[in-house]
Amino acid sequence: MKCPVCNNELALKESEGKKYFLCTKCKKFYNPSDFMSNPKIGGNNETERPPMALSISSMVLGIIGLLLSCLGIGIFPAIIGFILAIIALATHRSKGMAIAGLVTSLIGIIIAAVILITGTAVNGVLEEQGFTSSEKTKKESTEKDKKNSEESSE
Ligand SMILES: [Zn+2]
Repeated sequence: MKCPVCNNELALKESEGKKYFLCTKCKKFYNPSDFMSNPKIGGNNETERPPMALSISSMVLGIIGLLLSCLGIGIFPAIIGFILAIIALATHRSKGMAIAGLVTSLIGIIIAAVILITGTAVNGVLEEQGFTSSEKTKKESTEKDKKNSEESSE
């Protein structure tokens, strides 16, 4: 076992039944458990590598959300991707992809939101000016009435 500070070989000591490492150079004590939990000091780097599945799925969902947002339905995968990206960032998983997922899903949410807002706004304006389907049915019904009256007059 080597000292993480000076790389000097540690001496294994025992006190009150507890084992610990002592660096004779910098006079520091280390618990054997320190070497297990901290991969930088001596643990297995391979097993300590953070899982990337969460970051990858957040990025994939973000891209899907971005593409689907043009159809107005992308807001759902984008929101899921956004949440996954936040979890990935909060748990310190592969940051690059989590940020990519965060950005893509955020853009997807914004595009979908803009489409939804402008879509309803356009519908609202059309409704005010009487260009909606209700006007259409009114016209159709008047035409029907005309036909009916024509038929009845014959
Ligand atoms: Zn040392």
